Amino acid sequence: MTLRGKLILPEFEVKFVEENKVKALREKIINIITQISNLSCEIAGNDERQAMNILADLLALIYKAPMILSYAPSLPSSKYSANAFEYLLYYVILRHKYGKELMITPDLGVKDLMDKLEKLPAETVRNLKSFFQSFKDLMDIYEALLYTPADTRPGFNFTSLASHLQLTSLVVWAMQQQTYDQSQLRVAALLHDIGKLVNPEHHVRESVDILEEVLRKSTGELCIKGGIEKIRDEVLHHHGQIQTILNMADDVAASHDRISPIVMEGLDNLNLSVKECYSKRGEDSFNCLESKGAQEYEKASKELYKYLSSVLLDPSVIQKDEAKVLKYLNDVKPAQTPKSTQQASANTTSRNPIAYLVYVDFPGIQKFITNFPGLREMSFASFLVDFITSVYAFALIDSKFRDLGKSMLPVEALLSGYGGHSYIVVRADLDKPDIEGLFKNLKLEEELDAKLNVTVLDFMYDNEILGINKISEEIGKQSYNRYLLDFNERLYSYGLHETCSYCGIRPAVDDVPISPDEKERLCKRCKLVRELSSNRGFSAKTDTTYMIDGSFIRPADLAKSIFKGKDSSEGEYLNYAMEFIAGWKNENDKKYISLVKADGNYAGIIFSATVTFSDYVDRSFRLDYGIKKAFYETLKELHEKETSSANAQSSTGNSLVPRVLSGVLYLGGDDIMLMSPSVIAIQFAVRLFKKAQEYTGFTFKVGVLTVKPDHPVQFAYQAVNELMERAKIGHLNGSPVAMSSIAAMLFSNSLANRNVIDTEINKYSGSKHNEIKYKFLVVSNPLENVEEFLKSFGLEDFKELVNLYNNEREGRNKVKEVLRPIQDVVGYLSTINKENKGSEDIFFKGLAYMVRQRARVKENQSNTDSQRKVLSTLLQNTKISNDGGSAPLYDYYFILKSILAGLGEA
Ligand SMILES: [Zn+2]
Repeated sequence: MTLRGKLILPEFEVKFVEENKVKALREKIINIITQISNLSCEIAGNDERQAMNILADLLALIYKAPMILSYAPSLPSSKYSANAFEYLLYYVILRHKYGKELMITPDLGVKDLMDKLEKLPAETVRNLKSFFQSFKDLMDIYEALLYTPADTRPGFNFTSLASHLQLTSLVVWAMQQQTYDQSQLRVAALLHDIGKLVNPEHHVRESVDILEEVLRKSTGELCIKGGIEKIRDEVLHHHGQIQTILNMADDVAASHDRISPIVMEGLDNLNLSVKECYSKRGEDSFNCLESKGAQEYEKASKELYKYLSSVLLDPSVIQKDEAKVLKYLNDVKPAQTPKSTQQASANTTSRNPIAYLVYVDFPGIQKFITNFPGLREMSFASFLVDFITSVYAFALIDSKFRDLGKSMLPVEALLSGYGGHSYIVVRADLDKPDIEGLFKNLKLEEELDAKLNVTVLDFMYDNEILGINKISEEIGKQSYNRYLLDFNERLYSYGLHETCSYCGIRPAVDDVPISPDEKERLCKRCKLVRELSSNRGFSAKTDTTYMIDGSFIRPADLAKSIFKGKDSSEGEYLNYAMEFIAGWKNENDKKYISLVKADGNYAGIIFSATVTFSDYVDRSFRLDYGIKKAFYETLKELHEKETSSANAQSSTGNSLVPRVLSGVLYLGGDDIMLMSPSVIAIQFAVRLFKKAQEYTGFTFKVGVLTVKPDHPVQFAYQAVNELMERAKIGHLNGSPVAMSSIAAMLFSNSLANRNVIDTEINKYSGSKHNEIKYKFLVVSNPLENVEEFLKSFGLEDFKELVNLYNNEREGRNKVKEVLRPIQDVVGYLSTINKENKGSEDIFFKGLAYMVRQRARVKENQSNTDSQRKVLSTLLQNTKISNDGGSAPLYDYYFILKSILAGLGEA
């Protein structure tokens, strides 16, 4: 029996590795490596060197699974991809094949850029797509890598194999400006500890065995056979006496220089029983840890991590009020800096960096996305932001390297990318001004009237990777200066020019046909985005074949069958994007659409309380992966209920799933924005964020806004953003708390925008700073409460909601019945006193009325259980204290109204 576990953060829990489960992955690992080795040779036309380059990047992409795999596996049906990172895959792999033909330069406009990537020969792109068909296996392997510690010993076990292997390969690249065997070394780095997954005691032997089996399976024709044999030998010796690039990089990636002395100090100071195991090697070390037992292991893991935090974290981080949400930090006292760290910091100041970190930021992303009035353009705009900050920025730097004859940027160098910014590691072949210079005068900035912020920071020395604290501090300083220098939005004088009829800000430059008999004058940005969005963004999202649990789902097919159009033109359905997502079954439907926007709580403190860079990488990748997994699993649940529903007519069997898939605006990191049929929106959000909380350790604030599909989507977006902000549960009894929460509202006739949300909430609940003492609108409802509420009527189950949707008429009656007692109370409140909302008198009168009503419902036999239940649940969730009282009356009212509106009645 092996005893090992990973300290997962921010939860601060030890998750023990299920050895049987990881052992079962051995075959899958061998298969995947074999499969991509063959694929590499195939794409490279059996050119050995090229194939090894491709193999290194394809392997590295496994460690980037959260980024590349997106939120649902798909087989793109056209040349346009719904996911910006698929373009990264094409670029990264095909640059090896097409060399100088595939260069990305600053003078490429957005359209040329897209064209260039979309025109890649279809055959090779198709080959690459087969990579995605192993979605399930890749997810399984990635997840195991994420939850297996790279180093089993307490004090070191907070780093995952996934981030360690990725960083080692990156360090290998950064350490060597010129080598012929660069890719071969990277493959060795990416695989050197792969054996640890299945056989930690004899991991070197195991890694070698895995490679042996790959060689055996590849039937002798494999063009990189010789290369893989060399890699096998490299891996075999990576723990040997000779200093190789690989074992130096291994140490740097593990931050050994930095943390080993502190862990040893901790072992001395903390009197931990596991201490004696650290002088043992290999199997003895494992046996020793095992003999101490799980409890001691767990205790040591936690105590040593706290010790590391006390030494390595900036005291100001620990002392922040927000830091209280990380409970373990409460008993971490900032230490006087011990010798070990003094040395480390003295070393770094006197040496030259070997690699920089480039931070690319698209400022004002929300503003940019909501610049456009239509969903189609907004959907493309959010795709474009990811595309520019990650794919374009990476390709631009990489092309420069290639142009200079340097070894290209490994895909590992794109450390992360979502939410309008990215981190890219760049070897110090180029100096800071060179890198910054690359981003000056970009054609696409001019075309889009947007400005990228690019910050270049020291990142890696030959014995150390800087922690994220130092890095983000620098970013903060530098971007502040930048904001002083240039505004992200140019200022235009009014009245001197005709303004664009889309955004109403920039000068109009051109007539653009909006429909066969309508023209509009648009600015450059709106014109370009409008044009490009006809095939991309929403359009690409629907025109894709998704694979959900073995079924193939093509949203465009369903959309076309509903919105046939007068002239039966193919693209007619694109004009009904909102209606389609809302769940319309025909062109005269009246169903509402919900916007769901969410954001992780306390991301700032969670990321700045990291002790090493790999600690940061782990949290960031786990967050990204966890969110996407949560979405996919929620979708799978819905899919399952839809296909098994007794009422599923063959044609509408899968009706809701394709709409949810089409409604994702963005989903990555801690940022989520999606649209959904309003009948399932709240349930979907509850399920999704409950899982997301479990998979990421984060909590979320969620806003769900329900409107008519013809509501201007840009205002609805701003409104749901405000609603989400108001959903946050900040402090309870003076201390910050991390809790997921949901706010829901529905607007039927009036326009919803940011201010309207604010005014409405303030009226019933008070402002953020000045709450109304007695209120019937809670806004920041704990996720569990909303779940409980839905559960009391069986509405928490997708099955029931799918039934309601498939039998609208009955469905409406059912929901109305539950809604009736609530409407009754709402009506009563409005009659007793319109002027005195929030007064104690009204509040208690309202409660008394609810109690009376409940009693009345009980006596009346014709009423069903649900009416009594809704009042009981409401009363149960009523809170009264010396400071005031609250009952989620209007919250429940909006929740039920959203479901009803999703059935075509508001
Ligand atoms: Zn415009």
